Parts: sequence; structure tokens; C-alpha cells
Amino acid sequence: MHGRADMKTIGIREMSGELIKKVTDQGQVIGITSGRVLAGVLMPIGPEIVEQLVDRNLARIKDSVRRGEEDVAAGRGESLQDLMGSPPEQGGYSRVPPQVSIRQLSGSRIQQAADSGEALIVTHDGAAVALLIPVTSHWVERLVERNLPRIRNSIERGENEIAQKGILPTLEELLEEPEQSHPGSRPVRHDYESLPSAGRSLLEGADSAVAAMAVWAGTITPPSASLMQQRVVGIKIIPDAQDERIRLVGVLTDALARIVRGPVELPLANLDQGTVLAGVLDLVQGLEGTMKPGGEHLVAVGMELGGHVHNGTVVYSANAGWHHFPLASLVQRQLSIPVTLENDANALAIRERLSGIKDENMVVILITNRGVGSGVIANGQIVRGANGMAGELGHVPVEFERHGAQVKCRCENPGCLEGATAPYAIMNTLTEDGFNGDFDAAVEAANEAGSRAHEVFLHAGEALGRAIATVINLHNPSSIVLYGPPALVGEPRDLPSPSGFLNQESASLYMGAMIRSINNHSFSTGVDDCRFIVRNTTDADGAAAAAACVLQQLPPLRTAPSTTTAVDLAAIQ
Ligand SMILES: [Zn+2]
Repeated sequence: MHGRADMKTIGIREMSGELIKKVTDQGQVIGITSGRVLAGVLMPIGPEIVEQLVDRNLARIKDSVRRGEEDVAAGRGESLQDLMGSPPEQGGYSRVPPQVSIRQLSGSRIQQAADSGEALIVTHDGAAVALLIPVTSHWVERLVERNLPRIRNSIERGENEIAQKGILPTLEELLEEPEQSHPGSRPVRHDYESLPSAGRSLLEGADSAVAAMAVWAGTITPPSASLMQQRVVGIKIIPDAQDERIRLVGVLTDALARIVRGPVELPLANLDQGTVLAGVLDLVQGLEGTMKPGGEHLVAVGMELGGHVHNGTVVYSANAGWHHFPLASLVQRQLSIPVTLENDANALAIRERLSGIKDENMVVILITNRGVGSGVIANGQIVRGANGMAGELGHVPVEFERHGAQVKCRCENPGCLEGATAPYAIMNTLTEDGFNGDFDAAVEAANEAGSRAHEVFLHAGEALGRAIATVINLHNPSSIVLYGPPALVGEPRDLPSPSGFLNQESASLYMGAMIRSINNHSFSTGVDDCRFIVRNTTDADGAAAAAACVLQQLPPLRTAPSTTTAVDLAAIQ
């Protein structure tokens, strides 16, 4: 990691075309000082930097601003706003940033931009080479708070059009084939006027997203080009002795938790904790071995599994029979890089929040063959509870007996939801009743009205719907993302309204029973407030979600003591 002293600053009088070119080619970000005050942050225009900021650092931006403000309040420095003057008028930043040539740049021009809430596009020899972000805390907050949805849209729009028209490489190309796309260096430089509207919308996204840079100027080292060479190993642990496929599934991802290599599967001989630890280390080593030497480097490992996980320890896994297995710290001791362990449904919820539907209040429900879990995002945060156990939807009691007898869950409690609705439990029930065949055959058999399979699937969907209604009544989510196997929940789709949902799902026994039950049991506007999204998940998705979790928990790159105060960084070089 680079320290703050790595951020170069330069006086406004010293700016030259040569310098800007160097900055652009190296993907550097530099501070611009005027009168020994940090007046702005200059950064090359590159879509990869924008995306890094948007996907990875939003949560940190607010934190940094808050910390900075606390510092200011505690008298640890003058606020930038004090130094830079009054806050800008509203709405000034929604247009494309004005262009300023290097020769036209001055302290008063930056001040003017700050006052009107503008970023400046710096041009050299007629080509746009960098964005200059004036540094005022108010300006930063305003951009960040109000423009998040627009940032993402702009970037997506811009990327799509750019990809179609071949103006710039896509982010994927930058990641996958850097040396082919950009021989020698990373110039993402272009004449602003010649950009199609797509490019402009990308820059509109940039002018908001890079506001983060203004915060970073005082707090955190900006990302270097090498950030995109950072790699994370994500591992899904599948401790299922029942289907005799105890295994680990690993992927190598980039710093945005996108899969770069894998998935790779590693079968485990047994569930001994030593076997699992050795397997994880083998898998990490194997994936690390696929990395390009001298470029890609491993920065963290994220793991996930079903069960009660807290602070990197498996508190209890019904599948594996583990109690208090401190897996993350055992792995971290061997690897000396950050390692996290997360519950599987929580991991998917964290990934949804980072790069999926992003709702502040949502619930992810995960149905696997092995059980049912949920991850709850409330007010933008994952809900963990007192000891990390929150969201164990599969163990919510929904029924008390079957055939006149109490049914015990694998967790030993009677009447758990997963005993009624998880595929393994559906199969157990049918097998007890004499059914011969696999899960697909059972789904097929359920189509026959009056059959035992029909009855069991109807009951399973009804039980799940009751549990989901409970979740809706407790949390009032704006979205529920239901992850499940296609045989049970069907193909991925959005189901925006309850009535539309009901019509569409009447064909599906299980889903139809589920939604009727949700409608029957949810309170007030709960169902109308909530959209339903169905997804299928793969083991690779789970492993990538584990990577997203560790990326989310990595500490800020570097925090300096006096945060958003304006200082002449040249003084500490
Ligand atoms: Zn249970």
C-alpha cells in the first residue's frame, strides 16, 4: 500500500504539459496547490479509475467525510470550506465540466470552479488529459450524496456505447489484456470534443465519482494503476457430507470481485478441521500460482459457508457439525493477508448491496439443496445481530408436526422452515412416503394434481411464503432477491408487482403457493412496497461473493491524522 506521502503535489505555477502527460501515462493523481493550500486534485481521465471509485469506495467516502468533519469540529484543523469560501449553489455540477487549458489554469479559476460546483477538464494541445477536482468538503458531499444512481447509469451507458463504437477499450479489456490494449502505458486520453455522447456521459459519471478524490486528497492515498492488478481469492465451502461431495470452490477475482480465473473445485476427504484448513491453503496457493508474475498480486482471501458465522469463526454449522471453528484466523496466520469468513446468504446480500440491486432495505433469500438462509440489509447495513446469527430464515419455526409426529430439523429444533422447504427435506419426505427418483423427477411428479409430490411441493411453497411474509412484516424491504435452483424457483426474472407475480407464477406450483402465502400473511403495504427478483446461483457466484465480502472489509488504504483539512502536501514531501 502506498502512504500519503506518495501523493505528489505541485504548485499551480509549475504545471506544464509535460507533467500532465506524465501523470496521465502513469495513472497518477496529484494535488494542486495554490498559495500553499491544496486547491484541487488532478487526475487522468480513465474509466477504470471511475469504476474503482464507484464500486469499491462509496462506503468509505462518507466515512472519510465524517471523520474529516469530526477532526475539524475537534479543532484539529481549519475546514476546507473555511479556506475555500462559501458553498456552491445547487445544481451546478449536472452539466459537462468546462474545459480549461493548462495555460488558463489559475488559483482563482479553481476557486471559481469550486464556488460553482464544477470539475474542470484540463486540456493540453487540444486534447482532454485530466479532470481537476476543486477541494471543498461541501462540494464533495453534495456530489457524492446526490449523484450515486447517476454515476452508475452514466458509466454503464458510456461503457456500452464505447464498447459498441470501439472508441475506448472496455474495462474488461483493460483488465484482461492490458499489454495488448495499451502497449507500454495506460493512456486513456482523448480529445473531449470528439467524444460521442457516450464518452461525455462517462465523463459526467466521472465528474461525480472522482469527487471522492477530493476527500482522498486529505485522507487516503488515491488508487494507483496497480489497483487493477490486485487479486482476491474467494472460496465457497461446501461441507455437505450427505451428498458425499465435501468440497471447496475457489475463484480468483479482481478488486471489484469480478471473476478473473476459476472456478476451481477441490474435493475434501472429510470434514476434519485440519483437512479443511489444508484444503483452503492448497486452493489459495493453486490460484495464486495462476497469477501473472510481476503484475497481479494477491491482497486478500474471502470465504463463505452456510451456518452461523461470527467474526471469522464458524460458531455452528449444522451441515458440518462444527462448533467454534476459528477458520479465518487460522488461514490468516498462514497467509499474512486479510482473510474473512462470512455466512453464505449474507455474502450474497453484501454483493447485491455492492454491485447488484443496491437497495438500502432488502433481503436475500438463499435456497440451496442443503438449506435455506437469508441476508438482511437494513438501512444499507447487513444485519448481524448480537452474535452474528441474524437472518437464519431456515430455522424459523413454521410447523410442528407431520403425520402426527414432530419433525426435527438437523439443528435439532422441531418444525424449522428448511425441514419443509429445502430440496433435501422435500426429497426426504417423499422418500419416506415411498417415492423413488431424483429431485427433477419429483418436480415432474408434482405436476400431477392429487399426487403426494404435488401435496409436498404445495406445502413447501406455502411454508416458504409464510416465512417470507414474516420477513416482510419485520423488515419492510423494498426488494427480496430469491436465489434458488431453477428446478424449484425457475429461471432468473424480475417480478415487479404482486398481481403480475401471481399471474405469472400460477403455472409454477411451488412459486405460486409461495406468493399466495406471502399475499395472505403480509401486513398493510408490505407486499406492494417490495419487488421480487429471482436469481439462480452457482458455486462460483458464492465464491465471488466471498471475495466481495473481504474487499468490503479491507481497511481504507491509508488514513492520515488531519483529514479533510487543506494542507500543502508539498511541505511533507
Ligand atoms: Zn433448524
